[in-house]
Amino acid sequence: MSNYKKSDELLKRAVKVTPLGAQTYSKSYRYYCQGDSPTFIDRGDGCYLYDVDGNKFIDFVCALGPITIGYNNKEINDAIKEQLDKGISFSLQAEVEVDLAEKITEIIPCAEMVRFVKNGGDATTAAIRLSRAFTGRDIVALSGYHGMHDWSIGSTENNRGIPADVSNLTKTFEYNNIDSLKELFDEYPNQIAAVILEPIQANGPKDDFLQKVKELTHENSAVLIFDEVVSGFRYALGGASELYDVVPDMAAFGKGMGNGLAISAVAGKKEIMELIEEGIFVSTTFGGEALSMVGSMTALKILEKPGAYDYIWKLGTMLKEGLESLIEQYELEDVILVSGLPPHCGVEFEDVGSLDYLDINSIYSQAMIHNGVITVGINNINLSHTEKEIEVFLTAAEEAMVNIKKAIEQDSTEGILIGKKVDPVFKRNIVEEN
Ligand code: PMP
Repeated sequence: MSNYKKSDELLKRAVKVTPLGAQTYSKSYRYYCQGDSPTFIDRGDGCYLYDVDGNKFIDFVCALGPITIGYNNKEINDAIKEQLDKGISFSLQAEVEVDLAEKITEIIPCAEMVRFVKNGGDATTAAIRLSRAFTGRDIVALSGYHGMHDWSIGSTENNRGIPADVSNLTKTFEYNNIDSLKELFDEYPNQIAAVILEPIQANGPKDDFLQKVKELTHENSAVLIFDEVVSGFRYALGGASELYDVVPDMAAFGKGMGNGLAISAVAGKKEIMELIEEGIFVSTTFGGEALSMVGSMTALKILEKPGAYDYIWKLGTMLKEGLESLIEQYELEDVILVSGLPPHCGVEFEDVGSLDYLDINSIYSQAMIHNGVITVGINNINLSHTEKEIEVFLTAAEEAMVNIKKAIEQDSTEGILIGKKVDPVFKRNIVEEN
């Protein structure tokens, strides 16, 4: 008998009315072992999630990145409730919009001015439009995932529905490969408006990569944009640009700045941001929605307390090193790779024998869920995790490795995998958390 009766029933209803039964690809049932995993959550508290069937899990997905502090945080809830009594959205600005913009300019190295929007993709798209207007050029060079908009998805294999004329304006370069960016500047002289990248990918920049990108971009009079939608407020209060001491011209933030609230921001140099005043269009009805503003303001006050990021790095290091030593102990180095810096790290899988990486992923995911842990491979650490939850994670990971070892020995998942094999829509061609 499944522990997920209500989840299963809701999923049956959901898939009839919502593609994939979810609003976000990575929250879809296809990312977990269907039939043996929860699909619907009732509530969260700290680093725990409770599904609709009453099962309790430690959460390492953190809502795909936004949860930096923890679910159901009292200080943030109180601030939201107080604002709720006053109103949510108004016909003119609320004071908190100025407070929050000032706070961002204090925290974020490149932020001379800020505009709030709602999704990470709104912020990256605003930055791209502003850089095109600023330079009078059209081509964009990118490295990473930057949201669902045409200019970004046009560069991927999933570009059906996007006019070729738009796709052709986006060119990709390789992270930690400065020559790949040089080649783009050589091929498109005086045509590249902006270089946009996720400043932390895999294990972070090597050989002063970010500094070199900045120099090359500026030598070619283009605008440098850091997409800090994932890295912002996760690795350091001031994001990758604080961590690596490289200040871009513009940056986009989202996920981590509101502990789950729908808020994002585009920030940057005044001379570029001021183009908005000339009608370079960055404007949304809900940009200043006040519940998210006060919630984010309160979240940032918590995150800026001394020691917050040391704590996240410490727990992340415990998790990462624990995974590495288990992999060594079970001699799975060729099958499971640990990647990422401690605040945002996890495992990736390789094909082995007749098993493909999704078979291995499924066995891993199932063992984690059976031990009360929700993860999609990559793990986010938040302030409400403690060493106790990391220990549970590592115990679960050990069971996963025992099962993976067994599956490799018998060259099949038979008798090991109970639910369906995970079957993500994007198979390794778009990063997780979309
Ligand atoms: N940039 C990065 C680096 C992201 O990871 C994401 C989302 N995963 C986005 C932009 C887009 O953010 P959103 O889904 O909030 O539009």
